[in-house]
Amino acid sequence: MADTKYIFVTGGVTSSLGKGIISASLAKLLQARGYSVTIQKFDPYINIDPGTLNPYEHGECYVTEDGHEADLDLGHYERFINIPTSRANNITTGRIYQNVIEKERRGDYLGKTVQIIPHITDEIKRNVKLLGTKHKFDFVITEIGGTVGDIESLPYLESVRQLRWELGKNCLCIHLTYVPYIAAAKELKTKPTQHSVKQLQEVGIQPDILVLRTEHELTQDVRRKVALFCNVEPNAVIQSIDVPSIYYVPLKMQEQKLDEVVLQKTGMPVHEAPNLGPWKTFLNRMTDAEKIVKIGLVGKYVELPDAYKSINESLFQAATYNDYKLKLVFIHSEKLTDENAAEKLGDMDGILIAPGFGQRGIEGKFVALKYARENNIPTLGICLGMQCMVIEYARNVLGYKEANSTEMDIKTPYNVIDIMEEQKNITHMGGTMRLGAYDCELKEGSKAAEAYGKTSISERHRHRFEFNNEYKDAFEAAGMKCVGINPDTNLVEVVEIPELKWFIGVQYHPEYNSTVLNPNPLFVNFVKAAIENIKK
Ligand code: GLN
Repeated sequence: MADTKYIFVTGGVTSSLGKGIISASLAKLLQARGYSVTIQKFDPYINIDPGTLNPYEHGECYVTEDGHEADLDLGHYERFINIPTSRANNITTGRIYQNVIEKERRGDYLGKTVQIIPHITDEIKRNVKLLGTKHKFDFVITEIGGTVGDIESLPYLESVRQLRWELGKNCLCIHLTYVPYIAAAKELKTKPTQHSVKQLQEVGIQPDILVLRTEHELTQDVRRKVALFCNVEPNAVIQSIDVPSIYYVPLKMQEQKLDEVVLQKTGMPVHEAPNLGPWKTFLNRMTDAEKIVKIGLVGKYVELPDAYKSINESLFQAATYNDYKLKLVFIHSEKLTDENAAEKLGDMDGILIAPGFGQRGIEGKFVALKYARENNIPTLGICLGMQCMVIEYARNVLGYKEANSTEMDIKTPYNVIDIMEEQKNITHMGGTMRLGAYDCELKEGSKAAEAYGKTSISERHRHRFEFNNEYKDAFEAAGMKCVGINPDTNLVEVVEIPELKWFIGVQYHPEYNSTVLNPNPLFVNFVKAAIENIKK
């Protein structure tokens, strides 16, 4: 087997250029050529992980199978390359420093002064190589968060510089920049790209490939000019133009032979381009779909497009696999009342109640659930959404007027959702929830089992509270069934009301493992039920 190749992806000029999507697209193309590929993200902030960040700061918190709270780019990686990521795929500055400080306290540095260079940079390099040496991937793509020029990214760039030197041909740098279009002059401007590359060169890194994000086609002249000023070959100047869906990006990159340039530069054989069959089939179904299914997403972060990223993508995949176009309507839970519920929800084919934490917006979720239940609209509740399903049912069907989760009301007389036993003594917030994949046994004949087409499943979690089993009999007698149970702990993972068309709440997050080529069956089945609801 050839040595592992390390590819670094940096960004310049501005943030939000889509480094994650470019990394994932390149990974997809290399994977389609038969290579084993993984993608890793370095985030230059001091938090140990994004688990303690709220969505306003950092969008959705993604969760890996092994229970790591991670950057949402890992979600893109999994959706594109269809293999699970892990704790090793997302490292923050906080974790690098924590490891170095722990080593210092243990005495590992034998009396040396501990410094950014070499100790922090060595720790960064160790984490880059870990995926190559331990897991033996052919390609490790490392995305460096932030923008070149940020103070925070300097140690990472220094590590890249050193690795470039150590690894020679086995290492490659891709730099993403932005080419603005000045409408008044009708011109695309390359100066920001030139400056950004200069900044990289100042820290000793010569990019091998430039990916230019643009809203207009780049002419050959523009490409030649960038190549000339930035010391890269013209065929290594790639444009990343706006496309209607991020899932087109791999095709756009393949058209311009990004993968071939990478193979050439890393000294690998270049065979014929793979045809990306199943990926294209997905894209065709997406473009061919005409009929619309309307899903209302009820949550409190509706103004933030990234807050429910994986849910949006899962719904979109599910609609595509049902040959429908998704119309996702964000419904602000804080603005929902019994008075306006019909106006805001009456038109929805299906309703999804979002996950979340804390009191804010919770009453609106009860309003939505009552409306959905009474009007028999297909509904999926995820995590807090499932817990709200249970509380709403307790209040309005079982007659437990003050039922609640002890997360919202510690003194509730009906603690139908309560803190998990093992969570009671936890005082630290970081990384201490019930996290990662757990098994669940579904009841034969339940709607959930039908959706999955099997009874043994494993799904990822992120919560501290749970369904209180003391109330199980009361719920089941009234018609809300506990149809998914963790075989080891007896925790309730899935509830449903079989009498209704489709009314399922899951304690776990099915959105985390839904990928383009392997959509989560619960979402596909939920959207199918929503579509059947239109037809009626
Ligand atoms: N706040 C709830 C809990 O901790 C639900 C969490 C979530 O929706 N991810 O149990």
